[in-house]
Amino acid sequence: MDEAQVFSRTDSLASHYRSIGYLLIAGLLIFYLIFFLIMWHRVRLLSNKLKSPITGIATMLQDIGVGNWRPLRPDTQIIELERIIDDVQVMGERLESSLALLEQANQEAQEASRAKSQFISSMSHELRTPLNAIQGFAQLLQMNSTPAQRGGEQDYLEEILLASRHLNQLVGDILDWSSIQSERPRLDLHKVDAVALMQACAELVAPEIQTHGLTLELCLPPGPLWVRAEPRRLRQVLLNLLSNAIKYTPRGSVSLRCAQENGWVRMTVLDTGIGIADALQPMLFEPFQRLGQENTAIPGTGIGLSLCKEYASLMQGRMGFHSEAHAGSRFWIELPAWAPATDENPRAPISRATRVYHGERNAERRQLVVNALPGAALEQFDNGRHLLDALERQPADVLLLSAELEGLDGQELLREIHRRPQLAGMPVILFCPPDQAEALVGLGASALLALPVDPLELNRLVQELVREELTDVI
Ligand code: ADP
Repeated sequence: MDEAQVFSRTDSLASHYRSIGYLLIAGLLIFYLIFFLIMWHRVRLLSNKLKSPITGIATMLQDIGVGNWRPLRPDTQIIELERIIDDVQVMGERLESSLALLEQANQEAQEASRAKSQFISSMSHELRTPLNAIQGFAQLLQMNSTPAQRGGEQDYLEEILLASRHLNQLVGDILDWSSIQSERPRLDLHKVDAVALMQACAELVAPEIQTHGLTLELCLPPGPLWVRAEPRRLRQVLLNLLSNAIKYTPRGSVSLRCAQENGWVRMTVLDTGIGIADALQPMLFEPFQRLGQENTAIPGTGIGLSLCKEYASLMQGRMGFHSEAHAGSRFWIELPAWAPATDENPRAPISRATRVYHGERNAERRQLVVNALPGAALEQFDNGRHLLDALERQPADVLLLSAELEGLDGQELLREIHRRPQLAGMPVILFCPPDQAEALVGLGASALLALPVDPLELNRLVQELVREELTDVI
């Protein structure tokens, strides 16, 4: 075999093996392609199998979050997910039974509290009669005593009168307190001039201020500042603050201030007295807390400030203070300023910018709401689903809701609203028949309004909720 033949054989062998090599590479590529295709297909199948039960579990959790303790179970063949679903179901059932226990405990506590208030109230009434007799007879004896008898006996009579006045005050305060606790009275709010009322209170306490050797400073504006208040209760709050300022100020002054800001009127009583230590301040508005004054000669019941706070909140106001030990205190009550428009028209016009949605099937109530909210940008819906769509497009400033609606009823709609973070915080007024109020309390509405709807009450509530939202934003 010559050299040329050897080369040609070698070349043909080389090209043969190259072809085999190419075939192997092509085979390998095809193998991997098929392998990855199969893998991709399986992953897709698996993710589809996972997606629906996981979404189902999320929905179960959301349902439990809004109080549906026994949500529907999603189907799955994956054992691990099956176990998670079982756990979620058990969690819902446990929450349901804990809630039932909690409600029962709450009811028992309420009943116990009612019984306690009733006991306190009847005891106080029982105490009042003999106390009044003691006070009356002591006064009579004092009036009838001749100058010759004056001296030791007179001092005893003074003591009896002082002690019985103090006890009467204590019994009065306890009666007020227990009546607020048991029935939360509705206060009739009127237009009141805060400045004039403060002046009147200052005149009332002026002799006491003088007796204590203090000075009274009035820093009041020249004109009236109108607030929404119950005059008797507001006077009681101011007199209580003034009486505290006098009692706890051994020397110096007591001042009164009044100013309006951001729709609120603030009435302040300042003193240069003993002040309150930082550590004691958190207990200040707690009933029967005298913060270390119980063993002193300063008379008191420890109930005045907690009563003031209750009255402030019943008048839709708030109370606050600033105090430093040995440097004096500043207590204030803030009440909503009287809106000028409410003077002429008790149904105050709602700001045009206020978007109110109203879900309602009853034609009469729809008309009533139109009349109650003059000026508001009001949209009414009889179908809950349409209402939800509208809310998703643009949330309302206030939502008024009846329980009965087409599509989604009021309760379901509320649950849907709570599932949507963009609607969180939207004020909702739920109209409810009086017998269903308890059942509707846990649904998360901002306010429940008993049927038949009182248009004035509705107008006031809407104004209030809108104002709260605005002040929150500020
Ligand atoms: P009291 O009948 O004891 O005055 P209050 O509820 O009015 O009850 O006040 C509770 C406690 O708060 C008082 O006992 C006192 O310790 C403290 N306190 C209230 N007002 C003042 C004040 N102006 N200066 C200092 N301490 C005060």
